[in-house]
Amino acid sequence: MGDAITCKCLIGGHWSDAQTDRFGEAWNPSTGEVIARTPMCSSSEVDAAVQKAVAAFPAWRDTPAPDRARFMFRFQEALLQHTDELARLVTREHGKTFLESRASVQRGIEMIEYACGLPALLAGEATRNIAPEIDCETIRHPLGVVAGITPFNFPAMVPLWMYPIAITCGNCFVLKPSERVPLSSIRIAELLMETGLPEGVFSIVHGDKTCVDALLTHPDIKAISFVGSTAVARHVHQTGTHHGKRVQAAGGAKNHLIIMPDAELRPTVRAMLNSAFGCAGERCMAGSLAVPVGDVADKLVALLCEEAGKLRVERTDLPDARADMGPVISRPHLERVVGYIDAAERDGARIVLDGRKVSVADSPGGFFVGPTVIDHVSPEMSVAREEIFGPVLPIVRVKTFDEAMALGDRCEYGNGAVIFTNSGRESHKFKHHFKAGMIGINVGVPAPLAWFPFTGWANSFFGDLHIQGREGMLFYTQQRMTMTRWFDASTHDKFDPAWRPGK
Ligand code: NAD
Repeated sequence: MGDAITCKCLIGGHWSDAQTDRFGEAWNPSTGEVIARTPMCSSSEVDAAVQKAVAAFPAWRDTPAPDRARFMFRFQEALLQHTDELARLVTREHGKTFLESRASVQRGIEMIEYACGLPALLAGEATRNIAPEIDCETIRHPLGVVAGITPFNFPAMVPLWMYPIAITCGNCFVLKPSERVPLSSIRIAELLMETGLPEGVFSIVHGDKTCVDALLTHPDIKAISFVGSTAVARHVHQTGTHHGKRVQAAGGAKNHLIIMPDAELRPTVRAMLNSAFGCAGERCMAGSLAVPVGDVADKLVALLCEEAGKLRVERTDLPDARADMGPVISRPHLERVVGYIDAAERDGARIVLDGRKVSVADSPGGFFVGPTVIDHVSPEMSVAREEIFGPVLPIVRVKTFDEAMALGDRCEYGNGAVIFTNSGRESHKFKHHFKAGMIGINVGVPAPLAWFPFTGWANSFFGDLHIQGREGMLFYTQQRMTMTRWFDASTHDKFDPAWRPGK
Protein backbone atom coordinates (compact mmCIF):
# COMPACT_ATOMS: atom_id res chain seq x y z
CA MET A 1 0.00 0.00 0.00
CA GLY A 2 3.06 2.25 0.63
CA ASP A 3 2.35 5.92 -0.02
CA ALA A 4 -1.31 5.50 -0.96
CA ILE A 5 -3.34 8.58 -0.14
CA THR A 6 -6.54 8.19 1.84
CA CYS A 7 -8.98 10.53 0.11
CA LYS A 8 -10.96 13.08 2.05
CA CYS A 9 -14.40 14.51 1.40
CA LEU A 10 -15.01 18.23 0.88
CA ILE A 11 -17.99 19.22 2.98
CA GLY A 12 -18.92 22.79 3.88
CA GLY A 13 -15.62 24.05 2.49
CA HIS A 14 -13.50 21.74 4.70
CA TRP A 15 -11.66 18.53 3.93
CA SER A 16 -12.67 15.73 6.28
CA ASP A 17 -12.28 11.97 6.73
CA ALA A 18 -15.30 9.88 5.83
CA GLN A 19 -16.89 7.94 8.69
CA THR A 20 -16.58 4.54 7.07
CA ASP A 21 -14.46 1.43 7.23
CA ARG A 22 -15.20 0.57 3.59
CA PHE A 23 -12.52 1.71 1.12
CA GLY A 24 -11.86 1.09 -2.56
CA GLU A 25 -8.44 1.12 -4.21
CA ALA A 26 -7.21 3.32 -7.04
CA TRP A 27 -4.12 2.23 -8.96
CA ASN A 28 -1.40 3.69 -11.09
CA PRO A 29 -2.32 1.58 -14.15
CA SER A 30 1.21 1.85 -15.54
CA THR A 31 2.61 -0.12 -12.59
CA GLY A 32 -0.34 -1.70 -10.84
CA GLU A 33 0.58 -0.08 -7.52
CA VAL A 34 -2.16 1.27 -5.25
CA ILE A 35 -1.97 5.06 -5.11
CA ALA A 36 -5.19 5.97 -3.30
CA ARG A 37 -7.76 4.57 -0.92
CA THR A 38 -11.22 5.89 -1.74
CA PRO A 39 -13.73 5.95 1.12
CA MET A 40 -17.15 4.51 0.38
CA CYS A 41 -19.32 7.22 1.87
CA SER A 42 -22.69 6.45 3.33
CA SER A 43 -25.88 8.49 3.34
CA SER A 44 -24.64 10.39 6.42
CA GLU A 45 -21.77 12.07 4.47
CA VAL A 46 -24.10 12.70 1.56
CA ASP A 47 -26.61 14.31 3.89
CA ALA A 48 -23.91 16.43 5.59
CA ALA A 49 -22.71 17.73 2.19
CA VAL A 50 -26.25 18.41 1.03
CA GLN A 51 -27.19 20.27 4.24
CA LYS A 52 -24.13 22.55 3.87
CA ALA A 53 -25.11 23.14 0.26
CA VAL A 54 -28.71 23.91 1.21
CA ALA A 55 -27.42 26.47 3.74
CA ALA A 56 -25.09 28.06 1.18
CA PHE A 57 -27.68 28.27 -1.59
CA PRO A 58 -29.68 31.46 -0.76
CA ALA A 59 -26.61 33.71 -0.57
CA TRP A 60 -25.03 32.10 -3.65
CA ARG A 61 -28.28 32.35 -5.64
CA ASP A 62 -28.48 36.06 -4.76
CA THR A 63 -24.84 36.75 -5.61
CA PRO A 64 -24.98 38.76 -8.87
CA ALA A 65 -24.29 36.55 -11.89
CA PRO A 66 -21.23 38.57 -13.01
CA ASP A 67 -19.73 38.10 -9.53
CA ARG A 68 -20.39 34.35 -9.71
CA ALA A 69 -18.70 34.30 -13.10
CA ARG A 70 -15.65 36.05 -11.65
CA PHE A 71 -14.92 32.94 -9.56
CA MET A 72 -14.77 31.06 -12.86
CA PHE A 73 -12.32 33.60 -14.33
CA ARG A 74 -10.04 32.95 -11.32
CA PHE A 75 -10.61 29.20 -11.57
CA GLN A 76 -9.66 29.22 -15.25
CA GLU A 77 -6.47 31.13 -14.45
CA ALA A 78 -5.56 28.60 -11.74
CA LEU A 79 -6.08 25.64 -14.06
CA LEU A 80 -4.02 27.29 -16.80
CA GLN A 81 -1.18 27.69 -14.32
CA HIS A 82 -1.47 24.07 -13.17
CA THR A 83 -2.26 22.38 -16.49
CA ASP A 84 0.89 20.25 -16.62
CA GLU A 85 0.63 19.24 -12.97
CA LEU A 86 -3.01 18.21 -13.52
CA ALA A 87 -2.17 16.36 -16.73
CA ARG A 88 0.52 14.38 -14.87
CA LEU A 89 -2.02 13.50 -12.18
CA VAL A 90 -4.59 12.36 -14.77
CA THR A 91 -1.90 10.21 -16.39
CA ARG A 92 -0.87 8.77 -13.04
CA GLU A 93 -4.33 7.69 -11.97
CA HIS A 94 -5.86 6.92 -15.39
CA GLY A 95 -2.92 5.79 -17.54
CA LYS A 96 -3.51 7.83 -20.71
CA THR A 97 -0.46 9.54 -22.18
CA PHE A 98 0.64 12.95 -20.94
CA LEU A 99 -0.41 14.59 -24.23
CA GLU A 100 -3.84 12.98 -24.06
CA SER A 101 -4.21 14.06 -20.44
CA ARG A 102 -3.14 17.59 -21.29
CA ALA A 103 -5.70 17.80 -24.07
CA SER A 104 -8.40 16.57 -21.70
CA VAL A 105 -7.48 19.21 -19.10
CA GLN A 106 -7.62 21.81 -21.89
CA ARG A 107 -11.15 20.65 -22.82
CA GLY A 108 -12.10 21.06 -19.16
CA ILE A 109 -10.68 24.58 -19.07
CA GLU A 110 -12.80 25.42 -22.12
CA MET A 111 -15.88 24.45 -20.10
CA ILE A 112 -14.85 26.98 -17.45
CA GLU A 113 -14.34 29.61 -20.16
CA TYR A 114 -17.83 28.89 -21.43
CA ALA A 115 -19.17 29.34 -17.88
CA CYS A 116 -17.45 32.76 -17.68
CA GLY A 117 -19.88 33.96 -20.38
CA LEU A 118 -23.03 32.61 -18.73
CA PRO A 119 -24.29 35.94 -17.35
CA ALA A 120 -25.18 36.92 -20.92
CA LEU A 121 -26.84 33.56 -21.66
CA LEU A 122 -28.90 33.72 -18.47
CA ALA A 123 -30.74 36.81 -19.75
CA GLY A 124 -34.50 36.33 -19.94
CA GLU A 125 -37.09 37.65 -22.36
CA ALA A 126 -39.61 40.47 -22.00
CA THR A 127 -42.55 41.83 -23.97
CA ARG A 128 -44.18 45.15 -23.23
CA ASN A 129 -47.98 45.46 -23.48
CA ILE A 130 -49.04 41.83 -23.97
CA ALA A 131 -52.38 43.40 -23.03
CA PRO A 132 -53.18 47.03 -22.17
CA GLU A 133 -50.98 48.08 -19.22
CA ILE A 134 -49.47 44.59 -18.80
CA ASP A 135 -45.86 43.58 -19.40
CA CYS A 136 -44.59 40.00 -19.36
CA GLU A 137 -41.11 38.63 -18.69
CA THR A 138 -39.26 35.39 -18.08
CA ILE A 139 -36.21 35.08 -15.82
CA ARG A 140 -34.03 32.02 -15.32
CA HIS A 141 -33.53 30.79 -11.73
CA PRO A 142 -31.08 28.20 -10.40
CA LEU A 143 -32.58 24.93 -9.16
CA GLY A 144 -30.88 24.70 -5.74
CA VAL A 145 -28.60 21.80 -4.82
CA VAL A 146 -27.59 19.61 -7.75
CA ALA A 147 -25.24 16.61 -7.96
CA GLY A 148 -22.87 15.07 -10.50
CA ILE A 149 -21.67 11.46 -10.75
CA THR A 150 -18.75 10.82 -13.09
CA PRO A 151 -16.85 7.93 -14.76
CA PHE A 152 -13.19 6.91 -14.64
CA ASN A 153 -12.14 7.66 -18.20
CA PHE A 154 -11.75 11.46 -18.06
CA PRO A 155 -10.94 12.25 -14.41
CA ALA A 156 -10.56 16.02 -14.95
CA MET A 157 -12.68 16.78 -18.01
CA VAL A 158 -16.01 15.09 -17.34
CA PRO A 159 -16.61 16.65 -13.89
CA LEU A 160 -15.76 20.00 -15.53
CA TRP A 161 -18.54 19.41 -18.08
CA MET A 162 -20.90 19.86 -15.15
CA TYR A 163 -20.04 22.06 -12.21
CA PRO A 164 -18.67 25.25 -13.81
CA ILE A 165 -22.03 25.71 -15.57
CA ALA A 166 -24.11 24.57 -12.59
CA ILE A 167 -22.32 26.82 -10.10
CA THR A 168 -22.24 29.90 -12.34
CA CYS A 169 -25.99 29.50 -12.88
CA GLY A 170 -26.32 29.91 -9.07
CA ASN A 171 -26.64 26.30 -7.90
CA CYS A 172 -24.66 24.49 -5.21
CA PHE A 173 -23.01 21.32 -6.48
CA VAL A 174 -22.12 17.96 -4.91
CA LEU A 175 -19.66 15.88 -6.95
CA LYS A 176 -19.23 12.11 -6.64
CA PRO A 177 -16.18 11.34 -8.79
CA SER A 178 -15.29 7.84 -9.93
CA GLU A 179 -13.85 5.88 -7.02
CA ARG A 180 -11.16 4.64 -9.45
CA VAL A 181 -9.75 8.14 -10.19
CA PRO A 182 -10.46 10.39 -7.18
CA LEU A 183 -7.19 12.36 -7.13
CA SER A 184 -7.71 14.73 -10.08
CA SER A 185 -11.10 15.84 -8.76
CA ILE A 186 -9.58 16.51 -5.34
CA ARG A 187 -6.68 18.57 -6.70
CA ILE A 188 -8.97 20.59 -8.99
CA ALA A 189 -11.32 21.22 -6.06
CA GLU A 190 -8.38 22.57 -4.02
CA LEU A 191 -7.72 25.05 -6.84
CA LEU A 192 -11.42 25.95 -7.00
CA MET A 193 -11.53 26.62 -3.24
CA GLU A 194 -8.46 28.88 -3.56
CA THR A 195 -10.62 31.24 -5.63
CA GLY A 196 -12.49 32.07 -2.42
CA LEU A 197 -15.66 30.24 -3.42
CA PRO A 198 -18.07 30.37 -0.44
CA GLU A 199 -18.23 27.26 1.75
CA GLY A 200 -20.86 24.74 0.73
CA VAL A 201 -21.20 25.91 -2.89
CA PHE A 202 -19.07 22.96 -4.03
CA SER A 203 -18.65 19.63 -2.21
CA ILE A 204 -17.13 16.22 -2.89
CA VAL A 205 -18.27 12.88 -1.55
CA HIS A 206 -16.77 9.56 -2.62
CA GLY A 207 -18.07 6.07 -3.05
CA ASP A 208 -19.95 3.47 -5.00
CA LYS A 209 -23.60 2.50 -5.46
CA THR A 210 -24.47 3.22 -1.81
CA CYS A 211 -23.28 6.81 -2.14
CA VAL A 212 -24.87 7.27 -5.59
CA ASP A 213 -28.22 5.94 -4.39
CA ALA A 214 -28.10 8.29 -1.39
CA LEU A 215 -27.71 11.20 -3.85
CA LEU A 216 -30.46 9.89 -6.14
CA THR A 217 -32.99 9.65 -3.32
CA HIS A 218 -32.03 12.72 -1.27
CA PRO A 219 -35.07 15.02 -1.02
CA ASP A 220 -33.02 18.23 -1.14
CA ILE A 221 -31.22 17.43 -4.41
CA LYS A 222 -33.06 18.91 -7.37
CA ALA A 223 -31.10 17.58 -10.32
CA ILE A 224 -28.58 14.88 -11.21
CA SER A 225 -25.99 14.87 -13.99
CA PHE A 226 -24.49 11.46 -14.71
CA VAL A 227 -21.88 10.12 -17.11
CA GLY A 228 -20.96 6.43 -17.15
CA SER A 229 -22.06 3.06 -18.52
CA THR A 230 -25.52 2.52 -19.97
CA ALA A 231 -26.74 0.14 -17.27
CA VAL A 232 -25.93 2.62 -14.51
CA ALA A 233 -27.18 5.61 -16.58
CA ARG A 234 -30.54 3.89 -16.93
CA HIS A 235 -30.66 3.18 -13.18
CA VAL A 236 -29.71 6.77 -12.37
CA HIS A 237 -32.36 8.16 -14.71
CA GLN A 238 -35.11 5.88 -13.43
CA THR A 239 -34.30 6.33 -9.74
CA GLY A 240 -33.62 10.06 -9.96
CA THR A 241 -36.78 10.90 -11.93
CA HIS A 242 -38.82 8.61 -9.65
CA HIS A 243 -37.62 10.81 -6.78
CA GLY A 244 -38.75 13.97 -8.55
CA LYS A 245 -35.40 15.15 -9.90
CA ARG A 246 -34.30 16.43 -13.26
CA VAL A 247 -31.82 13.92 -14.69
CA GLN A 248 -29.39 14.00 -17.59
CA ALA A 249 -27.62 10.63 -17.85
CA ALA A 250 -25.05 9.91 -20.57
CA GLY A 251 -24.27 6.22 -21.11
CA GLY A 252 -22.03 3.92 -23.12
CA ALA A 253 -21.40 3.73 -26.84
CA LYS A 254 -20.55 1.61 -29.87
CA ASN A 255 -19.37 4.10 -32.46
CA HIS A 256 -19.33 2.88 -36.06
CA LEU A 257 -16.64 4.03 -38.48
CA ILE A 258 -17.81 3.55 -42.08
CA ILE A 259 -15.07 3.56 -44.69
CA MET A 260 -16.23 4.06 -48.27
CA PRO A 261 -14.22 2.80 -51.26
CA ASP A 262 -13.43 6.41 -52.25
CA ALA A 263 -12.00 7.38 -48.82
CA GLU A 264 -8.51 8.93 -48.70
CA LEU A 265 -6.77 5.88 -47.31
CA ARG A 266 -3.75 7.24 -45.42
CA PRO A 267 -5.45 10.11 -43.55
CA THR A 268 -8.42 7.82 -42.90
CA VAL A 269 -6.17 5.23 -41.28
CA ARG A 270 -4.48 7.92 -39.19
CA ALA A 271 -7.86 9.19 -38.00
CA MET A 272 -9.01 5.63 -37.27
CA LEU A 273 -5.87 4.89 -35.23
CA ASN A 274 -6.50 7.89 -33.03
CA SER A 275 -10.20 7.13 -32.78
CA ALA A 276 -9.86 3.44 -31.88
CA PHE A 277 -6.62 3.38 -29.89
CA GLY A 278 -6.31 6.92 -28.46
CA CYS A 279 -6.72 6.88 -24.66
CA ALA A 280 -6.37 3.07 -25.02
CA GLY A 281 -9.90 3.00 -26.44
CA GLU A 282 -11.35 4.20 -23.12
CA ARG A 283 -13.39 6.99 -24.69
CA CYS A 284 -17.14 7.15 -25.16
CA MET A 285 -16.45 8.65 -28.61
CA ALA A 286 -13.87 6.01 -29.58
CA GLY A 287 -14.37 4.35 -32.94
CA SER A 288 -15.27 0.85 -31.76
CA LEU A 289 -16.51 -0.89 -34.93
CA ALA A 290 -15.01 -0.40 -38.39
CA VAL A 291 -17.27 -1.05 -41.36
CA PRO A 292 -15.36 -0.98 -44.66
CA VAL A 293 -17.63 -0.95 -47.70
CA GLY A 294 -16.80 -3.00 -50.80
CA ASP A 295 -13.26 -3.55 -52.05
CA VAL A 296 -11.54 -1.09 -49.70
CA ALA A 297 -11.41 -3.69 -46.90
CA ASP A 298 -8.21 -5.59 -47.78
CA LYS A 299 -6.08 -2.48 -48.31
CA LEU A 300 -7.56 -0.78 -45.25
CA VAL A 301 -6.99 -3.70 -42.88
CA ALA A 302 -3.41 -4.19 -44.10
CA LEU A 303 -2.51 -0.53 -43.60
CA LEU A 304 -4.34 -0.33 -40.28
CA CYS A 305 -2.44 -3.32 -38.88
CA GLU A 306 0.88 -2.00 -40.20
CA GLU A 307 0.39 1.41 -38.57
CA ALA A 308 -1.24 0.16 -35.35
CA GLY A 309 1.58 -2.34 -34.97
CA LYS A 310 4.04 0.57 -34.74
CA LEU A 311 2.31 2.20 -31.76
CA ARG A 312 4.56 2.16 -28.69
CA VAL A 313 2.68 0.61 -25.76
CA GLU A 314 4.59 1.65 -22.65
CA ARG A 315 4.33 3.17 -19.21
CA THR A 316 2.98 6.70 -19.35
CA ASP A 317 3.79 7.81 -15.81
CA LEU A 318 7.51 8.56 -16.12
CA PRO A 319 8.70 12.11 -16.91
CA ASP A 320 10.45 10.95 -20.09
CA ALA A 321 7.66 8.61 -21.21
CA ARG A 322 7.39 8.23 -25.00
CA ALA A 323 4.37 5.96 -25.13
CA ASP A 324 1.82 6.32 -27.94
CA MET A 325 -0.60 4.28 -25.91
CA GLY A 326 -0.80 3.52 -22.20
CA PRO A 327 -2.46 0.86 -20.06
CA VAL A 328 -6.17 0.36 -19.35
CA ILE A 329 -7.62 1.34 -16.01
CA SER A 330 -7.44 -1.84 -13.90
CA ARG A 331 -6.65 -5.54 -13.91
CA PRO A 332 -10.35 -6.61 -13.94
CA HIS A 333 -10.91 -4.28 -16.89
CA LEU A 334 -7.85 -5.70 -18.68
CA GLU A 335 -9.26 -9.21 -18.18
CA ARG A 336 -12.63 -8.07 -19.53
CA VAL A 337 -11.03 -6.62 -22.68
CA VAL A 338 -8.96 -9.78 -23.24
CA GLY A 339 -12.13 -11.83 -22.67
CA TYR A 340 -13.79 -10.07 -25.62
CA ILE A 341 -10.80 -10.86 -27.89
CA ASP A 342 -10.85 -14.51 -26.77
CA ALA A 343 -14.60 -14.72 -27.47
CA ALA A 344 -14.21 -13.28 -30.99
CA GLU A 345 -11.47 -15.83 -31.72
CA ARG A 346 -13.66 -18.68 -30.44
CA ASP A 347 -16.54 -17.40 -32.62
CA GLY A 348 -14.39 -17.66 -35.76
CA ALA A 349 -13.20 -14.07 -36.29
CA ARG A 350 -9.55 -13.50 -37.26
CA ILE A 351 -7.27 -11.66 -34.84
CA VAL A 352 -5.07 -9.87 -37.37
CA LEU A 353 -3.28 -7.72 -34.79
CA ASP A 354 -3.13 -9.28 -31.32
CA GLY A 355 -2.69 -6.93 -28.36
CA ARG A 356 -2.83 -9.83 -25.90
CA LYS A 357 0.83 -10.53 -26.74
CA VAL A 358 2.09 -7.15 -25.61
CA SER A 359 4.59 -7.06 -22.76
CA VAL A 360 6.08 -4.01 -21.12
CA ALA A 361 9.43 -5.09 -19.77
CA ASP A 362 9.98 -2.39 -17.16
CA SER A 363 6.50 -2.75 -15.69
CA PRO A 364 5.20 -6.30 -15.46
CA GLY A 365 2.49 -5.22 -13.00
CA GLY A 366 0.90 -2.68 -15.37
CA PHE A 367 -2.47 -3.24 -17.03
CA PHE A 368 -1.35 -3.39 -20.66
CA VAL A 369 -3.10 -4.69 -23.74
CA GLY A 370 -1.88 -3.60 -27.16
CA PRO A 371 -3.87 -2.35 -30.14
CA THR A 372 -5.97 -5.21 -31.49
CA VAL A 373 -7.65 -5.53 -34.87
CA ILE A 374 -10.20 -8.29 -35.39
CA ASP A 375 -11.21 -8.97 -38.99
CA HIS A 376 -14.13 -10.93 -40.46
CA VAL A 377 -16.37 -10.19 -37.50
CA SER A 378 -20.07 -10.90 -38.00
CA PRO A 379 -22.67 -8.44 -36.68
CA GLU A 380 -23.98 -10.99 -34.16
CA MET A 381 -20.65 -11.40 -32.32
CA SER A 382 -20.34 -9.73 -28.93
CA VAL A 383 -17.35 -7.64 -30.13
CA ALA A 384 -19.59 -6.13 -32.83
CA ARG A 385 -22.52 -5.35 -30.53
CA GLU A 386 -21.14 -4.51 -27.08
CA GLU A 387 -18.98 -1.73 -25.74
CA ILE A 388 -15.49 -3.15 -25.04
CA PHE A 389 -13.92 0.13 -23.85
CA GLY A 390 -10.40 -0.91 -24.73
CA PRO A 391 -7.97 -0.73 -27.70
CA VAL A 392 -9.85 -3.25 -29.81
CA LEU A 393 -11.19 -2.57 -33.30
CA PRO A 394 -13.51 -5.23 -34.73
CA ILE A 395 -14.12 -5.09 -38.48
CA VAL A 396 -17.42 -6.01 -40.10
CA ARG A 397 -17.01 -6.06 -43.88
CA VAL A 398 -20.09 -5.10 -45.91
CA LYS A 399 -20.80 -4.90 -49.64
CA THR A 400 -22.88 -1.72 -49.81
CA PHE A 401 -23.39 1.63 -48.15
CA ASP A 402 -27.00 0.64 -47.37
CA GLU A 403 -25.76 -2.42 -45.47
CA ALA A 404 -23.48 -0.18 -43.42
CA MET A 405 -26.39 2.14 -42.65
CA ALA A 406 -28.57 -0.81 -41.62
CA LEU A 407 -25.92 -1.94 -39.11
CA GLY A 408 -26.36 1.41 -37.37
CA ASP A 409 -30.12 0.84 -37.05
CA ARG A 410 -29.45 -2.46 -35.26
CA CYS A 411 -27.03 -0.92 -32.76
CA GLU A 412 -28.49 -0.38 -29.27
CA TYR A 413 -26.32 2.71 -28.73
CA GLY A 414 -26.41 6.05 -30.54
CA ASN A 415 -23.51 8.17 -29.35
CA GLY A 416 -21.23 8.87 -32.32
CA ALA A 417 -20.63 7.64 -35.87
CA VAL A 418 -18.15 8.57 -38.57
CA ILE A 419 -18.00 8.22 -42.34
CA PHE A 420 -14.78 8.45 -44.35
CA THR A 421 -15.54 9.37 -47.94
CA ASN A 422 -15.11 11.92 -50.70
CA SER A 423 -18.73 11.61 -51.71
CA GLY A 424 -21.15 14.40 -50.83
CA ARG A 425 -24.13 12.18 -51.63
CA GLU A 426 -23.21 9.43 -49.18
CA SER A 427 -22.03 11.74 -46.44
CA HIS A 428 -25.28 13.73 -46.77
CA LYS A 429 -27.34 10.55 -46.36
CA PHE A 430 -25.13 9.46 -43.47
CA LYS A 431 -25.37 12.81 -41.71
CA HIS A 432 -29.15 12.85 -41.89
CA HIS A 433 -30.06 9.19 -41.46
CA PHE A 434 -27.44 7.29 -39.45
CA LYS A 435 -28.82 6.49 -35.99
CA ALA A 436 -26.40 8.46 -33.76
CA GLY A 437 -26.40 11.87 -32.14
CA MET A 438 -22.83 12.98 -32.97
CA ILE A 439 -21.64 12.60 -36.56
CA GLY A 440 -18.15 12.89 -38.02
CA ILE A 441 -17.46 13.29 -41.73
CA ASN A 442 -13.77 12.43 -42.15
CA VAL A 443 -13.35 13.36 -38.44
CA GLY A 444 -12.43 10.35 -36.30
CA VAL A 445 -13.60 11.62 -32.90
CA PRO A 446 -16.50 14.08 -33.36
CA ALA A 447 -16.65 15.13 -29.70
CA PRO A 448 -18.24 18.58 -29.40
CA LEU A 449 -16.48 21.50 -27.74
CA ALA A 450 -17.84 23.32 -24.71
CA TRP A 451 -20.51 25.44 -26.37
CA PHE A 452 -22.14 22.53 -28.21
CA PRO A 453 -24.20 19.87 -26.39
CA PHE A 454 -23.00 16.28 -26.09
CA THR A 455 -25.93 14.85 -28.02
CA GLY A 456 -26.01 11.08 -27.50
CA TRP A 457 -29.11 9.19 -28.72
CA ALA A 458 -30.77 5.84 -27.96
CA ASN A 459 -29.14 3.97 -25.06
CA SER A 460 -26.28 6.47 -24.99
CA PHE A 461 -28.40 9.11 -23.29
CA PHE A 462 -31.38 9.24 -20.93
CA GLY A 463 -33.08 12.57 -20.32
CA ASP A 464 -34.10 15.63 -22.29
CA LEU A 465 -31.42 18.28 -21.95
CA HIS A 466 -27.89 17.17 -22.79
CA ILE A 467 -24.63 17.97 -21.00
CA GLN A 468 -22.50 21.00 -22.07
CA GLY A 469 -23.34 24.20 -23.90
CA ARG A 470 -26.63 26.03 -23.81
CA GLU A 471 -28.51 22.82 -23.00
CA GLY A 472 -26.35 22.54 -19.89
CA MET A 473 -27.42 26.02 -18.82
CA LEU A 474 -31.10 25.18 -19.51
CA PHE A 475 -30.73 21.97 -17.47
CA TYR A 476 -29.43 23.80 -14.39
CA THR A 477 -32.05 26.57 -14.44
CA GLN A 478 -35.82 26.92 -14.38
CA GLN A 479 -37.81 29.79 -15.81
CA ARG A 480 -40.25 32.00 -13.97
CA MET A 481 -42.73 34.10 -15.89
CA THR A 482 -43.94 37.35 -14.32
CA MET A 483 -46.81 39.55 -15.53
CA THR A 484 -46.78 43.13 -14.27
CA ARG A 485 -49.50 45.75 -14.29
CA TRP A 486 -49.53 49.14 -12.60
CA PHE A 487 -53.01 50.55 -12.26
CA ASP A 488 -53.56 53.77 -14.07
CA ALA A 489 -56.80 55.47 -13.03
CA SER A 490 -57.22 57.08 -16.45
CA THR A 491 -57.40 53.70 -18.24
CA HIS A 492 -59.53 51.70 -15.81
CA ASP A 493 -61.68 49.25 -17.65
CA LYS A 494 -64.54 47.02 -16.59
CA PHE A 495 -62.57 43.96 -17.90
CA ASP A 496 -59.33 42.60 -16.60
CA PRO A 497 -57.22 43.70 -19.60
CA ALA A 498 -55.57 40.30 -19.98
CA TRP A 499 -58.97 38.67 -20.49
CA ARG A 500 -60.68 41.35 -22.56
CA PRO A 501 -62.52 40.13 -25.65
CA GLY A 502 -60.40 40.15 -28.79
CA LYS A 503 -61.04 42.81 -31.42
P1 NAD B 1 -19.65 3.21 -14.50
O1 NAD B 1 -21.06 3.26 -14.98
O2 NAD B 1 -19.13 1.94 -13.97
O3 NAD B 1 -19.43 4.29 -13.33
C1 NAD B 1 -19.84 5.63 -13.48
C2 NAD B 1 -20.20 6.18 -12.10
O4 NAD B 1 -21.32 5.45 -11.58
C3 NAD B 1 -19.07 6.07 -11.09
O5 NAD B 1 -19.00 7.25 -10.33
C4 NAD B 1 -19.48 4.87 -10.23
O6 NAD B 1 -19.06 4.98 -8.89
C5 NAD B 1 -20.98 4.88 -10.31
N1 NAD B 1 -21.58 3.53 -10.26
C6 NAD B 1 -21.01 2.38 -10.72
N2 NAD B 1 -21.87 1.35 -10.55
C7 NAD B 1 -22.98 1.87 -10.00
C8 NAD B 1 -24.23 1.30 -9.59
N3 NAD B 1 -24.50 -0.01 -9.74
N4 NAD B 1 -25.17 2.11 -9.06
C9 NAD B 1 -24.92 3.44 -8.91
N5 NAD B 1 -23.76 4.02 -9.27
C10 NAD B 1 -22.80 3.25 -9.81
O7 NAD B 1 -18.74 3.77 -15.70
P2 NAD B 1 -17.16 3.78 -15.78
O8 NAD B 1 -16.68 2.39 -15.98
O9 NAD B 1 -16.60 4.58 -14.68
O10 NAD B 1 -16.96 4.62 -17.12
C11 NAD B 1 -16.97 4.06 -18.40
C12 NAD B 1 -18.33 4.23 -19.05
O11 NAD B 1 -18.68 5.61 -19.13
C13 NAD B 1 -18.34 3.73 -20.49
O12 NAD B 1 -19.52 3.01 -20.71
C14 NAD B 1 -18.32 5.01 -21.32
O13 NAD B 1 -18.89 4.90 -22.60
C15 NAD B 1 -19.14 5.91 -20.45
N6 NAD B 1 -18.91 7.31 -20.76
C16 NAD B 1 -19.89 7.96 -21.46
C17 NAD B 1 -19.71 9.27 -21.83
C18 NAD B 1 -20.78 9.98 -22.61
O14 NAD B 1 -20.72 11.20 -22.75
N7 NAD B 1 -21.78 9.29 -23.13
C19 NAD B 1 -18.52 9.94 -21.51
C20 NAD B 1 -17.54 9.26 -20.78
C21 NAD B 1 -17.75 7.92 -20.42
